Amino acid sequence: MTAPTKSYPTHDDWKARADQAEPRGQAFIGGRYVDAASGETFPCVNPATGRSVGDVAACDAADVDAAVAAARAAFDDRRWRGMPPATRKKVLLRLADGIRAHRDELAVLETIDMGKPISDSHRIDIPLVADCIAWFAEAIDKVYDEVAPVGDDALALITREPMGVVGAVIPWNFPLLMAAWKLGPALATGNSVVLKPAEQSPLTAIRLAEIAAEAGLPDGVLNVVPGFGETAGKAIGLHADVDAVAFTGSAEVGKLFLQYSGQSNMKRISLECGGKSPHIVMADCPDLDEAAKAAAFGIFFNQGEVCNAGSRLLVDASIKDELLDKVISWGEKLAPADPLHPKTKMGAIVDGAQCDRVMGYIEKGKADGAQLRLGGERVRRETGGWFIEPTVFDGVKNDMTIAQEEIFGPVLSTITFESVDEAIAIGNDTIFGLAAAIWTRDITVAHRTARALRAGVVWVNCFDHGSISTPFGGYKQSGFGRDKSLHAIEKYTELKTTWVNLA
Ligand code: NAP
Ligand code: MG
Repeated sequence: MTAPTKSYPTHDDWKARADQAEPRGQAFIGGRYVDAASGETFPCVNPATGRSVGDVAACDAADVDAAVAAARAAFDDRRWRGMPPATRKKVLLRLADGIRAHRDELAVLETIDMGKPISDSHRIDIPLVADCIAWFAEAIDKVYDEVAPVGDDALALITREPMGVVGAVIPWNFPLLMAAWKLGPALATGNSVVLKPAEQSPLTAIRLAEIAAEAGLPDGVLNVVPGFGETAGKAIGLHADVDAVAFTGSAEVGKLFLQYSGQSNMKRISLECGGKSPHIVMADCPDLDEAAKAAAFGIFFNQGEVCNAGSRLLVDASIKDELLDKVISWGEKLAPADPLHPKTKMGAIVDGAQCDRVMGYIEKGKADGAQLRLGGERVRRETGGWFIEPTVFDGVKNDMTIAQEEIFGPVLSTITFESVDEAIAIGNDTIFGLAAAIWTRDITVAHRTARALRAGVVWVNCFDHGSISTPFGGYKQSGFGRDKSLHAIEKYTELKTTWVNLA
């Protein structure tokens, strides 16, 4: 007998859930929801409608102080780090289950907060969040420390210890997933965390704090301080009692965190700062249809608001026209639509400022002489929201602004090359080094090119494939430190040597 299949929610179902959502907007400090000490709030705007979905606490330095004090108290009395790893594992597995149990609610919050399609929030973001927390939970009672080979007269232990209070400052493009990439390893290793979500997308992080408390995470171990970068974010960066900051966002703000560290207590900084990833298609590409589809989704997925977006399509001149026609026909199918419709593949741009920024780059591309082949317009203005068509430029030179700066929108720059060496040179001619991809049948070319590209991830004959078990992060001004995989633990732990004299 087969169980009756539960049908997937319809557009009307999602709209009803969005209408009924009553997002909480308070900070979460020391195990309870509180207003900002100043009483200030700011409106949280749904970018698909331009309308507020609720007010959010505008935390500043005073609230960060309170959150850090709560985190420090939790760390010092060992209520979390003192638990055996197997016990922390159980709590974090319950948290992962709680996220799964609230999947619909969290997906709706994510979509009304930052405009991504509900099918992405529901099928990609929230399940990956739960999987990430569960993966680090499962790992933590399986990683061993070391004994150094120092001979019979001593015992030298090399152990990892949690850093203390970790600040996590995150962006709006994958709000809860970027939080999870920090929280999974930071919490599993026994740290206390002060999390600042982006001002554009605080809702799911705020809700997560309560789900974590229900799972048994002790008070003070996870604190959430919504607010602005210049106030709450800066206060975390400069705080003398924060031991480490894990940041994802722009290179510009990443550099500020290095300064904050130098101006305060030399806290450890790890940075994931975006990219300008080359998506390279060689003349012997094994499957041009697949490559075209990957190139289109590589730039249009999540409205192009993806740090590793394949924003530069580098293609052998001999196959450029054929490939580009196929990419464009994918782009034509991806017109932006209501993010709450389950069939929507492209939603709203996160806010008006980002929309203006992206449109500014499109104008700059045209002015610099690139040839607009698809899109280029802001659409659906009647909704009150911010939507931009999938946009494709041909005839781009790598020194143009649209090929050098991170646009963070659905804008593809197509650049041709004549040889493998030229493709590698153009690929590396960027201040960033987050990701890259190569399509070729030639295994030697694939490996040689992968080695020559200065990027944290290189995909061969695919784009944006991955697993929580593989490290993610950048070279050059894409930052340093890695999210995901056991390597992420390095960011949140200190190494200690304990030398015991046995002589
Ligand atoms: P951002 O300014 O770098 O924001 C990332 C985080 O840093 C947010 O929580 C932000 O707070 C905070 N922040 C901002 N200014 C700060 C400051 N002076 N001190 C301390 N913290 C600060 O990124 P964005 O404004 O959201 O987007 C701008 C550009 O950054 C994008 O167009 C894109 O190029 C890049 N970006 C990259 C990624 C990525 O995944 N690598 C993600 C998002 C954006 P607020 O929320 O208050 O700004
Ligand atoms: Mg919002």
